[in-house]
Amino acid sequence: MLAKMRQKAKDLLSSGVVSTVIGYGEGSGNRVRALFIRKPDDADKLILDERCVQNLAVYLTKREVRALGRPAVVARVPVMRTIQQLMFEKQVAEGEVAVIGISPDSQVLDFPDLKSMAEYVSAIPFELSADEKAAVEKLEKMTAGERWNFWLDVLSGCSKCYACRQSCPLCYCERCTVECNQPQWVSVPSHGLGNLEWHIMRAMHLAGRCVNCGDCFRACPLEIPLNLLTQKIITDIADKFGGADEYALNAFKPDDKEDFIR
Ligand code: SF4
Ligand code: SF4
Repeated sequence: MLAKMRQKAKDLLSSGVVSTVIGYGEGSGNRVRALFIRKPDDADKLILDERCVQNLAVYLTKREVRALGRPAVVARVPVMRTIQQLMFEKQVAEGEVAVIGISPDSQVLDFPDLKSMAEYVSAIPFELSADEKAAVEKLEKMTAGERWNFWLDVLSGCSKCYACRQSCPLCYCERCTVECNQPQWVSVPSHGLGNLEWHIMRAMHLAGRCVNCGDCFRACPLEIPLNLLTQKIITDIADKFGGADEYALNAFKPDDKEDFIR
């Protein structure tokens, strides 16, 4: 599988189909980092193992990465889902990106275009794992007061470093609401209620868009379980709206059971 992925990267670069392959490489210690391969001979530096979980689609909307020319990206299922969502949101267009797909059983997948990648990934059920479901159920069993105190407590340590936002491939706005000060929608300093405002605002902006890649949680230096917030929203959208294939806050169906908007 590794040899096939490296060969695919080499072929894409040497044929000029792409100018960069974004994949995984060895970082410091036992850590993995994103690797930008520009020459075919460097493709042997690519790695792929259980540590390679970072959502590399985060780079596809960055101005400096776009300036490098057409990229190919090594994409496990969450990365493919992200590219599908970015296409839906008109951030990535057919022909702009090539995908070196990796199936759940670690096979290298060939996709002639993004449409076929989207069809492939749409057929894989989007479900929380048993552990994730159990964590969400635990939250749901709390009273409203207990939940309020739980979130106030876990978010109280947030230092507003914004690593969670920077690591999220679907937080791609060049200027975030939290940085607007006229008007000041969200309080800048790190304090209990301000932290709650920031995280609820962010979670609502990701409702129906989050692909549950887990990068926001992994990026947090304080290991704040942000994924619980987004997973709860994923569960609610599935339960109350039958799943969302578009931005939940941006969609309305005539047969919506809520009539406040009519
Ligand atoms: S909110 Fe977190 S889990 Fe969801 S897409 Fe962004 S980084 Fe991934
Ligand atoms: S990464 Fe953690 S500490 Fe930093 S803003 Fe996000 S939740 Fe807060």
